[in-house]
Amino acid sequence: SVAPLGSSVIPIVNKLQDIFAQLGSQSTIELPQVAVVGSQSSGKSSVLESLVGRDFLPRGSDICTRRPLVLQLLQTKRKPDGSEEYGEFLHLPGKRFYDFSEIRREIQAETDREAGGNKGVSDKQIRLKIFSPNVLDITLVDLPGITKVPVGDQPSDIEARIRTMILSYIKQPSCVILAVTPANSDLANSDALQLAGNADPDGCRTIGVITKLDIMDRGTDARNLLLGKVIPLRLGYIGVVCRSQEDILMNRSIKDAIFAEEKFFRSRPVYNGLVDRCGVTQLAKKLNQILVQHIKIILPGLKSRISSALVSLAKEHASYGEITESKACIIIFLPQTGLRKVSEMIFS
Ligand code: GDP
Ligand code: MG
Repeated sequence: SVAPLGSSVIPIVNKLQDIFAQLGSQSTIELPQVAVVGSQSSGKSSVLESLVGRDFLPRGSDICTRRPLVLQLLQTKRKPDGSEEYGEFLHLPGKRFYDFSEIRREIQAETDREAGGNKGVSDKQIRLKIFSPNVLDITLVDLPGITKVPVGDQPSDIEARIRTMILSYIKQPSCVILAVTPANSDLANSDALQLAGNADPDGCRTIGVITKLDIMDRGTDARNLLLGKVIPLRLGYIGVVCRSQEDILMNRSIKDAIFAEEKFFRSRPVYNGLVDRCGVTQLAKKLNQILVQHIKIILPGLKSRISSALVSLAKEHASYGEITESKACIIIFLPQTGLRKVSEMIFS
């Protein structure tokens, strides 16, 4: 499977974890959480799924995501038999889901259990962990979209409720916001940009994602949107083409979809020269850069934690009275070289 998200960050984080492990202390490298916001059916779940590189989220033209799904990706050691990727829900402890379509069915069933079968929405989280050797330890949040007209069992103030729910996630200063707007609707009407603007007025943690570039009105294109000429956004926009409802019905794989997306952009001359703003792979790249930026910022703090851990280790060993020189070297120099390597990775 492909997990485009994190590829360049995983080695850096791993190295840092190694250093902490050598020091016998738990690392607390907290990466920012990533949340998707936007109106219903804008393609939020589709974007998250392509970022993770696995099929497991309910998607569709109706309201699908009706509870916040907190998705924790956790990196595991690679096993030779390949049975290494699985999911586990907080509400079903100990039960491992190796079949990802079963994960999707369980999300749907658990949504119904809490929010009913008739389009109800609940702010009670579903918590899912995905264990895989191919992922970065990061938390992604899939949120219900903004809807305006109550349907089914929804209360009359459904829009306000969903807004409050979304804001409670994205107002956290450590949350990276993927503001998802479909290319076939007017950007000036974007719920995503409006909500993100409330939570992050400086725009320093909001990435604009424009979906459905493949179904824009004939004669229009997203070039000016992507260039930020319509509504400027500090971190810019990425345009994507995810799977259509037909692709879902035909069980088209993520790999095929990413291939088709590349072909789409290659065959449209208007997107030539915008390579760094087009495609899920570019979105993953942009997110990776933000994560690396985050590690750069917390690195000095990590360094001082490592130094104080070293001091206390040295004291502990001194109290045993018989510390050999080679051991001392390992304790003092290994973490330092490791840190230098991490710095080189980040700053090169
Ligand atoms: P959400 O409600 O924002 O989570 O949206 P979903 O991810 O469930 O997608 C809503 C519908 O739009 C589904 O039928 C998807 O197949 C479809 N969709 C999502 N992204 C695209 C896209 O880029 N192109 C096309 N043609 N359809 C898309
Ligand atoms: Mg959704």
